[in-house]
Amino acid sequence: MARYIFITGGVVSSLGKGLASAALGALLQARGYSVRLRKLDPYLNVDPGTMSPFEHGEVFVTDDGAETDLDLGHYERFTGVAARTTDSVSSGRIYSTVLEKERRGDYLGKTIQVIPHVTNEIKDFLRIGEDEVDFMLCEIGGTVGDIEGLPFFEAIRQFSQDKPRGQCIFMHLTLLPYVKASGELKTKPTQHSVKELRSIGIAPDILVCRSEGDIPEKEREKLALFCNVRPDSVIAAKDLKSIYEAPLAYHREGLDQAVLDAFGIAPAPKPDLSRWDDVADRIYNPEGEVNIAIVGKYTQLEDAYKSIAEALTHGGMANRVKVNIKWVDAEVFDESDATTHLQGFHAILVPGGFGERGTEGKIKAAQFAREHKVPYLGICLGMQMAVIEAARNVAGLETAGSEEFDHEAGKKRFEPVVYHLKEWVQGNQTVERSVGDDKGGTMRLGAYSATLEPGSRVAQVYGTCDIEERHRHRYEVAVKYREQLEQAGLKFTGMSPDGRLPEIVEWVDHPWFIGVQFHPELKSKPFDPHPLFKDFVRAAKEESRLV
Ligand code: GLN
Repeated sequence: MARYIFITGGVVSSLGKGLASAALGALLQARGYSVRLRKLDPYLNVDPGTMSPFEHGEVFVTDDGAETDLDLGHYERFTGVAARTTDSVSSGRIYSTVLEKERRGDYLGKTIQVIPHVTNEIKDFLRIGEDEVDFMLCEIGGTVGDIEGLPFFEAIRQFSQDKPRGQCIFMHLTLLPYVKASGELKTKPTQHSVKELRSIGIAPDILVCRSEGDIPEKEREKLALFCNVRPDSVIAAKDLKSIYEAPLAYHREGLDQAVLDAFGIAPAPKPDLSRWDDVADRIYNPEGEVNIAIVGKYTQLEDAYKSIAEALTHGGMANRVKVNIKWVDAEVFDESDATTHLQGFHAILVPGGFGERGTEGKIKAAQFAREHKVPYLGICLGMQMAVIEAARNVAGLETAGSEEFDHEAGKKRFEPVVYHLKEWVQGNQTVERSVGDDKGGTMRLGAYSATLEPGSRVAQVYGTCDIEERHRHRYEVAVKYREQLEQAGLKFTGMSPDGRLPEIVEWVDHPWFIGVQFHPELKSKPFDPHPLFKDFVRAAKEESRLV
């Protein structure tokens, strides 16, 4: 049965709780254990699918089609364990399940309360798959003291009591601010945060303190004394130049040892950190640089394209180059010339997105890349825009566009080269969707297979003709334009196994121009870069030698 590690946060948000959890998962793996990571989010949305990327960052999609928090992306990138629907839950989901049960009469007329009904639902969630791994790491979103978070804190407290002694530990992440004027590290916010935690019945076993530098002995002892933890369980989380150094840095600080000690596991198995030594070496010792433009819509918040930025970094590591990303707002040249904004980059990436704003700019970016023979990777909407560009400017379909932007009834502006799909096949099942469906969860979501054209660039890049990638979209490139587009030179080199849905397009007379309907970035890892990103950065590196 799994041992549980609950990870909570205090003082302020954005301290890197997700990263600390992911790095700890990687360290436990390095010692030979199997792990699974989970995120429990206190917000009331049923899932993050309907939240704005501006507010919440990217929506991470799992193989089994869940739209989840971007922390699950960190978990996968650090542990390589594919996340599942059952690895992420929100208050909204918990409450909606409880209310459904209440309506069905499952509670036999009882009064429904936070304790025990809501907390039981959370505990049932925590127990899923408990026999499958050695360690289950569960991160609670937000900070201790948040009103929405209370049922989760109560549930994990109860859970640790339900389990045999020594089966659950609590790790709390806080901030140690440095006050310049007095030249001191301040422990008081951490003390208050732990006090808050203890007032709801949770005593942390391990304190992870985010600080700019080392924690001097005096402060460490003070924290240990006032927060009731052992001095060697006060772990410094120092600012790092790269997140990929986190497993090594936490190991140096003794985090994994402290965790095993807290469980009373002795002797602890020796860690093999060679994977992370190699990752750190590649990230800190590049032999060159490439400049890549990401032409998107949510460019003010980098978290909106988190996995893409990470996958590019992985591609850089594979090619031993540093990837400098420049975020370019597509709207800026919606109505003007793209050249001044895109000149000089070694590659251009157009990521996924929703809605019409900025799409004319993205179409121009695809045109610029095609005409100037600059490597181009179009992801989801970025592929759709490349297809529209090809249709308009090469295949003679001047009014080509996407049904996504044609909302006004009776006023059809575009030839629907990209159209709204209402029925498709997943595995051996047909999935249907009607126009009036809810906004949340009505997309083609999760892993789907594709068959690649033998001899095509993508088949070479992947080294196979059968792939499986994750999707998240409503619209599809219409296969009826295939012949016309292929004659123009844009080949459909990846299709759904039934041949109905275009998955990949590429310009054949171009050094590197690929559009994919799926999200390859979601499967890239620092120690196993995604083949498309690896080869895209290789192409950018080649381009950098030319200019
Ligand atoms: N808006 C497009 C669609 O729904 C693309 C989605 C995306 O890029 N993820 O098909």
